[in-house]
Amino acid sequence: MREPFESFSSDLLSLASAPFVTPLAEEIAADVLARFLRYIRIDTQSNVASSMYPSTAKQLILSRMLVEELREIGLEDAHLTEHGYVFATLPGSVAEPVVGLLAHVDTSTECSGEGVSPILHESYRGEVIVLPGDLSQVIDPADTPELAARVGHDIVTSDGTTLLGADDKAGVAEIMAAVAWLARHPEIAHAPVRIGFTVDEEVARGTVHFDLDEFGAALAYTLDGSGFGVLEYESFSAKEVTITIQGRGTHPGTAKGKLVSSLKLAADLVAALPRDGLSPETTEGREGFVHPSRFSGTAEETTLVFIVRDHDDAKLDEHVALLRRLADDVVAREPRARVQFDVEFQYPNMGQSIEQHPRVVAAAVEAYRRIGVEAVFEPIRGGTDGSRLSAAGLPTPNLFTGGQDYHSLREWASVQDMAAAAAMIVELVQVWAEPEL
Ligand SMILES: [Zn+2]
Repeated sequence: MREPFESFSSDLLSLASAPFVTPLAEEIAADVLARFLRYIRIDTQSNVASSMYPSTAKQLILSRMLVEELREIGLEDAHLTEHGYVFATLPGSVAEPVVGLLAHVDTSTECSGEGVSPILHESYRGEVIVLPGDLSQVIDPADTPELAARVGHDIVTSDGTTLLGADDKAGVAEIMAAVAWLARHPEIAHAPVRIGFTVDEEVARGTVHFDLDEFGAALAYTLDGSGFGVLEYESFSAKEVTITIQGRGTHPGTAKGKLVSSLKLAADLVAALPRDGLSPETTEGREGFVHPSRFSGTAEETTLVFIVRDHDDAKLDEHVALLRRLADDVVAREPRARVQFDVEFQYPNMGQSIEQHPRVVAAAVEAYRRIGVEAVFEPIRGGTDGSRLSAAGLPTPNLFTGGQDYHSLREWASVQDMAAAAAMIVELVQVWAEPEL
């Protein structure tokens, strides 16, 4: 265990002798880390219950800081849009295509992001990391192979009482450091870059007001992935099903033969779901699921909300059909009950749109290759800002950031992996200024 980061901030630039993937990654590492530590200290948690946009005003504290820093870098058009997005342009040595780089400033609602106190575990030796603010928060390399593989790296964690915020401030810091490096190196040929820092991604409203024309990119990448080398261009397709069961409430003392409890009917419906599959807790990879996310009601009326997910649209519809059968069964068994069944489309699998633009993925694969990494394709078990943007016509795969174990108190990130991601971004915008591969 090491001291809280403040106590050895003077050592910031003397990172351990850990492996960097390229000389550029080594050169850029200190800037990525300094920015990352600056950004994670600002609480930017979004709030699903809020009706404001962005859902919390505190996100704008970081957004405004990013505008200032972008202007200092020399991106004179950096500004906050009326909905709180940061947009800025780094002109290129060629006129097109304009490459978008996106990350979100907000953090997950699952853990507090207030008062983040980062700890730098320099030159990690492979030990169990016990977080000092809450000794029950332990990162054990025995069950975290990604950590076991990072002996020699400099690892950043929180003190265990908050999340770290690498999701997605690692992405923000990497884009900022890459753009700053490119601005300092006008001799490097690269495509024009459009930077976009969004809000409210964690509450699934990240692109509600995102104006594609105003952004003006032909293609984009979110820096919002996780493990080193992973490249994601397929997401879940997502629907939400709301089942409202109407029973008959009566005074329980005189209810014989009259009461129809919608709560019990709803419980039967949930109990009828498969136990050995089709749930988040029993599936992985490309397996979809049906997940009861909210259950609320009285004897009179109960509302069940399910999220339904699959990478395959036909299977997604089968999962919805299963819920419809279970809802029909409720009325078949209890004709006095009434059931309403509503399906809301949430987001499409972005693979359908991105596959029409193969060069967008090929360029990323090439950028990964230039930092010495073979891209690993993984389907996202969720959505990103890129899911909706891709469907709206801006093909937007998701690139790795080096952050790990997101949305938890044990979230951690490797400085070397974050530096690799920043170096990869510098390579990527150069690839786009070259003749087609
Ligand atoms: Zn994220």
